[in-house]
Amino acid sequence: MDQIIIDNLQIYANHGVYREENEKGQNFYVNAVMETDTGNAGTLDDLNLSTNYGEVCVFINQFIKEHTYRLIETVAERTAEAVLLRFPLVRRITLEVRKPEAPVPLPFESVSVKITRGWHRTYLSCGSNMGERQAHLDGAVEALRKDNKCRVIKVSDWIVTAPYGGVEQADFLNGAIALDTLYTPAMLLEKIHEIEYAHGRERKVHWGPRTLDLDILLYEDCIMHTDELTVPHADMHNRYFVLKPLMQIAPYERHPVLGSCVREMYDRLLSGTGAVEDKEIQDKQEKDGECEEKCGKDICETDVMIKIHAQQLTFAQAREIYETYAQEDFPPEEIKPVSVIEETWNRGNYHAYGFYEGTTLCAYAFLVANEEKRVLLLDYFAVLKARRGQGIGSRALALLRETCTEWNALVIEVEDDELPGLDRRTRDMRKRRISFYTASGCQMNAARSRLWSVDYRIMVMPLSDPYAQWCMADKLHAVYRKLYGEDILRQHFAITAR
Ligand code: ATP
Ligand code: CA
Ligand code: CA
Repeated sequence: MDQIIIDNLQIYANHGVYREENEKGQNFYVNAVMETDTGNAGTLDDLNLSTNYGEVCVFINQFIKEHTYRLIETVAERTAEAVLLRFPLVRRITLEVRKPEAPVPLPFESVSVKITRGWHRTYLSCGSNMGERQAHLDGAVEALRKDNKCRVIKVSDWIVTAPYGGVEQADFLNGAIALDTLYTPAMLLEKIHEIEYAHGRERKVHWGPRTLDLDILLYEDCIMHTDELTVPHADMHNRYFVLKPLMQIAPYERHPVLGSCVREMYDRLLSGTGAVEDKEIQDKQEKDGECEEKCGKDICETDVMIKIHAQQLTFAQAREIYETYAQEDFPPEEIKPVSVIEETWNRGNYHAYGFYEGTTLCAYAFLVANEEKRVLLLDYFAVLKARRGQGIGSRALALLRETCTEWNALVIEVEDDELPGLDRRTRDMRKRRISFYTASGCQMNAARSRLWSVDYRIMVMPLSDPYAQWCMADKLHAVYRKLYGEDILRQHFAITAR
């Protein structure tokens, strides 16, 4: 970026820790390098398009004379901030405050403090699903506008999205905000917490209902991880409700860890639902378009509402579905004798759901239940062939999540996409499958399992327990014990938790 430089501006002022320094004063010298785009001003020879260095000198002189600080660190800090606030075209300033007459009992030329401060581009996500959702989001933007250390650059539309993370609750209104700020990431987190609390935010259930949630998605190309703050936001690339509005305001902003821009992350997330579900996404996008037209800029409905309902099956119904469809929907190595299901069912550890449109079956889910660990393993899950590509898969998963609320988590085995030696097609297919589950609110766990020589990675959809990810190897083992005896497990089953 271009620079405007001020060298050795002499200012007589009263900073220092000694009383004499404050009363009598001494000479200070200021060097400033201001980063700003001088292109327009230079091309058009127009001072109005640039920052007037004469004005900056007068301003710095006045500011440093008018205030009295003990430390030159503070002089530098406050002066830099004041310049950044007063001169809007200055993006960054490196400011050095020298004090050649400082009370040092040895021969020396000068002491100085040099700092660089500036505006940082950051992106926030905002969401609300309690009370006046739109008022909460508008209120957050308003609060940011009122803070002189923040400049709201762009605000996305507010979009309606389904809840994420497995807690049953109302739909969300979500959006994204581009912001320039003088705050550090930690200070910005404090600021957004303050705004959340002003809007009545309480933290009761993780991922539970909230009046206002503000998250820091990106902060320039900063990468940081502390107990309080992870930047970039650790899960942003997996969330439709984050990427969709962010796409609107910053499609080419880059994620400094993943290296992809927002558009790439968004495309990957959507295409992740795989060839079969591509149409679902298309439908979704078309539907988006439609409703953006209908309701203007403010709110648009993004959910595909497919009118299906879940029904818990009796064993006889489950058996009929299994015998009719499972052979067709699953590879032979995944088909187990119906007697295994029946025995597990009779012990109370197997459940099945059918997903119906009216009275027509569209999809089914068979689940192994472990009541001590409160988890369900998704044993078979399929959409009937004739009904694929209509968004039924994600709707059925959402229904399952709404129905199985008394359980802690749904556990899903997905074929390992990271195995060495996989051909590209297979790998891509597996990755798409994983993205489908991710987009439906499942999270990848570190546990892996191997059953009858098939390698799986384990995904988890938290239901009532936000910490359901923990001790997954243990839970998975417990579930399998419900299905097979120890002997079979010893021979055919292995589990690792990296
Ligand atoms: P998620 O972070 O998965 O979206 P959440 O927003 O529902 O979950 P909160 O209860 O709002 O979770 O926040 C919990 C804590 O997460 C915050 O107090 C904050 O310290 C921490 N946190 C870590 N990284 C970030 C970030 N990038 N933005 C906001 N908060 C963060
Ligand atoms: Ca959040
Ligand atoms: Ca949050």
